Amino acid sequence: MKIKKDKGKLFIISGPSGAGKGTICNRIIDETGLEFSVSMTTRQPREGEVDGVHYYFVDEDTFLMAVAEGGLLENAEVFGNRYGTPKGPVLERLSAGTDILLDIDVQGALQIRENYPDGVFVFLVPPSMKELRRRLESRGTETKEKIELRLSKALSEMAYVKSYDYLVVNDDLDEAVNRVKAIILAEHSRVNVTPEELVEEYSTETEEE
Ligand code: ADP
Ligand code: 5GP
Repeated sequence: MKIKKDKGKLFIISGPSGAGKGTICNRIIDETGLEFSVSMTTRQPREGEVDGVHYYFVDEDTFLMAVAEGGLLENAEVFGNRYGTPKGPVLERLSAGTDILLDIDVQGALQIRENYPDGVFVFLVPPSMKELRRRLESRGTETKEKIELRLSKALSEMAYVKSYDYLVVNDDLDEAVNRVKAIILAEHSRVNVTPEELVEEYSTETEEE
């Protein structure tokens, strides 16, 4: 059967800082055909981060210009830095049939929900606040003060789970990755054909035999 080729699907993974979004997105990119959307940010690169691969690192003026020109699908200020999703590359790849994965914060996900309701919204949470603290501490990228800020923000962000389609608890990493892969597969099994098209498809086969 010739199944109609979908437009690409937009998958949005968000949730509290330290829940494991980056870790899971890397696995999904490595293990599936999804492509990552590289965000623009005003934050300074961390050791090992490469411009154009992990983020487009830009100054404040360049970021504000991109916003003014309507070049971002969404943007938000997160922990004192600006982040945004470049619109052109996402829309072009979706039209070409490529699935795109976004790792963005809750504010950005809510904006996309308004502008692009066809997106698939996955909320990723840690198994407990204790484990979230342990992960943020062991990642070693934030000061003690910044970790406290992320932990208190995590609690307020939980309320937004209602705006998402799926909830994944990232306890065992392999299981969480498998769940996200299952969501991707399920979304590609949605009915995307009319009854007429389906009957036509099968009738043609009968005539050909
Ligand atoms: P986020 O992108 O949501 O801020 P990260 O992907 O950076 O989170 O993960 C935060 C830390 O937790 C990292 O050090 C990462 O290696 C670790 N981590 C992620 N998932 C798991 C897991 N399932 N079990 C244990 N540690 C994890
Ligand atoms: P980090 O600075 O640790 O890489 O990311 C901090 C937060 O910003 C994470 O929650 C991440 O999901 C979010 N983020 C990364 N890129 C974007 C983006 O393009 N838009 C929004 N709204 N958030 C982003």
